Amino acid sequence: MSAYAGARLVPFWLDRPDAPAPAPPLTGDATCDLAIVGGGFTGLWASILAKQDDPARDVVLLEGDTVAFGGSGRNGGFVDASLTHGLPNGLARFPDEIDELERLGLENLAGIEETLERFSIDAAYEKTGFLLAAREPHEAEELSEFAELLRERGIDAEYLDQAAVRRELDSPTYIAGLWQRTGNAIVDPGRLAWGLARAASELGVRIHEHSPVTSLVDTPGGAELTVGEARLRARRVVLATNGFPPLVRAIRRYVVPVYDYVLVTEPLSAERRAAIGWAHRQGTGDCSNQFHYYRLTEDDRILWGGYDAIYHYGNAVAPRLEDRDATYSLLSEHFFQTFPQLEGLTFTHRWAGVIDTCSRFCVMWGTALSGKAAYAVGYTGLGVASTRFGARVALDLVDGLDTERTRLRFVRSKPLPFPPEPLRWAGIQLTRRALDRADRNQGRRGLWLRALDRLGLGFDS
Ligand SMILES: Cc1cc2nc3c(=O)[nH]c(=O)nc-3n(C[C@H](O)[C@H](O)[C@H](O)COP(=O)(O)OP(=O)(O)OC[C@H]3O[C@@H](n4cnc5c(N)ncnc54)[C@H](O)[C@@H]3O)c2cc1C
Repeated sequence: MSAYAGARLVPFWLDRPDAPAPAPPLTGDATCDLAIVGGGFTGLWASILAKQDDPARDVVLLEGDTVAFGGSGRNGGFVDASLTHGLPNGLARFPDEIDELERLGLENLAGIEETLERFSIDAAYEKTGFLLAAREPHEAEELSEFAELLRERGIDAEYLDQAAVRRELDSPTYIAGLWQRTGNAIVDPGRLAWGLARAASELGVRIHEHSPVTSLVDTPGGAELTVGEARLRARRVVLATNGFPPLVRAIRRYVVPVYDYVLVTEPLSAERRAAIGWAHRQGTGDCSNQFHYYRLTEDDRILWGGYDAIYHYGNAVAPRLEDRDATYSLLSEHFFQTFPQLEGLTFTHRWAGVIDTCSRFCVMWGTALSGKAAYAVGYTGLGVASTRFGARVALDLVDGLDTERTRLRFVRSKPLPFPPEPLRWAGIQLTRRALDRADRNQGRRGLWLRALDRLGLGFDS
């Protein structure tokens, strides 16, 4: 029997007896100053920041399912200050702005911590640092250079040789590591989202769950949103719908929904913990193109996810796509290869979530309805922290403000769009295979990947 045979198909983070009761759906007609569509981190932060900017503003948040139904309740809970899906991606794409972007990222992280404090949100936020593990010689070399780069930028980062990395976390597959001690944390994302929803309500935001918006139309002086039989008239709209089918056509050109899969184990006994170490509880990941990410939960389970990033033809998003046995089987196999000491451990939870991949791997913004609506999408798998910044900028844009943020090329520019189907699907499959080949070939990037690199195009999770 497989180790995940008894695993429930539900995000561990949301499978709690103290999950809050859903807010009532929108029924009947209503008006507001600002409507926000999507109850993930982007939407929740947009609602909180809008109220903090102007407490008199009448803000309504509409969530199609329940708060944290999307990636926000399904992620690994790795909190990273980077706004650009990591420093190397930011350096490659925005070399002239990277210092400012790194500073804004740290300020954004401080803003998150300050909010947790101010609203007494207990989301198991732990400043453990992040451990990157190398399993191939070329990865060890890259980590050593990366540690240097991080240190030059004032980030506390230490390169670990094989003995040192295995003292932190003992896998026979590791040959080196890097421990980045600042600019990150781990969190329980479900409790974070629920805490933010409570904070938003306390600030006066009206939240409606089970309220899917099916249309958004331009009206004189604002917009009209349809939720079943109900209509909401808003002066301004922020769209925070991630990789879900968008209400604004332009988003579909830039964003592809990619399914990412996760397993969570039963809690580790003291003996099992001792067999692997992990005294410092760092968030951890390996550094191949197709990478795993893993961490301990508050009750000492291991969350293990990543590697397979599956795109379904036609930007498909549907609950049936979350149950992919081939991927859970592969993840389980990789888990026991990494930690053979844990043979016999079983998984209690399995799930998948949608990642809004765009070709530059980090958030992008846009406006619609002559500037009365703004969106922030495309976080590509690193949005737990950067969604707050995404929301901040979306508010700037929808209010027509000129700020240090809206002047950034990062904010003004767009990624290259993905081609329409069937080229979209074919291109992504080709790229996934090329990334896999590179991982098996000492990281050497073949012709296809080099051509994409030159175009500034890519596929990541
Ligand atoms: C498996 C997985 C692991 C990840 N791990 C990490 C990680 O460890 N660290 C990290 O930084 N990032 C991670 N991410 C990415 C991170 O979770 C996301 O970037 C972030 O949560 C995005 O938040 P969001 O609010 O933009 O989108 P979401 O959380 O997806 O929220 C969008 C919401 O909009 C709602 N919605 C959509 N359409 C409508 C509509 N028409 N009407 C009403 N509501 C609508 C949806 O129901 C959903 O709740 C991961 C993602 C996944 C899927």
